[in-house]
Amino acid sequence: IDTHPNLSDTAPVALSYELFPPRSPAAAETLWTTIRELEATEPDYVSVTYGASGSNRDTAVELINRLLVETTLRPLAHLTCVGNAPQELAAIIGQLLDIGVRGILALRGDLPKGGSQPASGSLRYAQDLIDLIRRVEQRRTALLCAGKIAVGVAAYPTRHPESPSEEHDVEVLLAKQRSGADFAITQVFFEAGQYADLLTRARRAGVTIPIIPGVMPFTSVRRLNRLGELAGVEPAPELMERLAAADNDIERLHVGVDATVDLANAALDAGAPGIHLYTFNEHQSALEVLDKLALPRHNRFSQRRAANARPQLAS
Ligand code: FAD
Repeated sequence: IDTHPNLSDTAPVALSYELFPPRSPAAAETLWTTIRELEATEPDYVSVTYGASGSNRDTAVELINRLLVETTLRPLAHLTCVGNAPQELAAIIGQLLDIGVRGILALRGDLPKGGSQPASGSLRYAQDLIDLIRRVEQRRTALLCAGKIAVGVAAYPTRHPESPSEEHDVEVLLAKQRSGADFAITQVFFEAGQYADLLTRARRAGVTIPIIPGVMPFTSVRRLNRLGELAGVEPAPELMERLAAADNDIERLHVGVDATVDLANAALDAGAPGIHLYTFNEHQSALEVLDKLALPRHNRFSQRRAANARPQLAS
């Protein structure tokens, strides 16, 4: 997986999407429509989430396998360490590498509700998972002459809810880089300045890996309202007011897409090496954002989609 670090003005901007494993056969069907729509935009990779408890391991691996076998997409497998014992994690990493995965997003996962510590015997931090991934990889490289895989990690433009400070978050990011992280993807944020400040803090502290902004299409009020509960990130009140003031769903979509595009463009201006879109398994908002962003490498597809755009969504 090439995350295209933005080393020069002409470096291509990476595009990626996040998907989650479907929870029912009906959801799987809709997801595959989304996958085909997103595939046409030729993203650099698509990431597939993994439940913190590890309970959706089989559906996650199945989705990743299908992406590898049935599409041209390159999956980035999320993996969390709070819900599985290290031996289980080593087996999952081996399984992912066996099916052809070349990139893993190493995460701790959210602690179970009410728990302030990972389950006993499990790895404590994402950094420990990176170490484990690199160890498994090293054993396999010696055996199979397999190349190095890409390991990504999470980064936080606004303080992680359990962290004492944003400076501490950057120290953690630096530690993850030292353990072998190749790139980072950020948590959702609402102000480009928060991303730019993270870049400044990280570079000053010695973090050199690409930090890709994770951008959520701001088109669902319900989803935005749940963000605080799910990720400890409160949506900007001004955005919520503008969405609430929209007369109907189409206007709300336009308001949300425009706000998302403004944020993504500002992050690119601040030096973002790419954009990672949280799709929530829906392609419509993601493609609307992409059309308006007009990333150089994806223009051709934007233009084609613009020609076929559904009339009610045309601006
Ligand atoms: P860590 O980097 O381990 O940090 C966790 C906490 O511990 C932080 O407060 C940090 O400051 C602290 N910490 C870390 N290392 C140290 C240290 N050495 N010493 C002291 N303190 C330390 N969750 C899922 O369940 N499934 C997913 O698929 C998923 N995908 C995500 C994708 C992205 C891009 C992002 C940003 C988050 C994702 N999450 C996912 C959420 C993530 O699991 C949570 O944010 C979780 O609470 C922290 O994960 P982490 O990998 O950042 O953990």
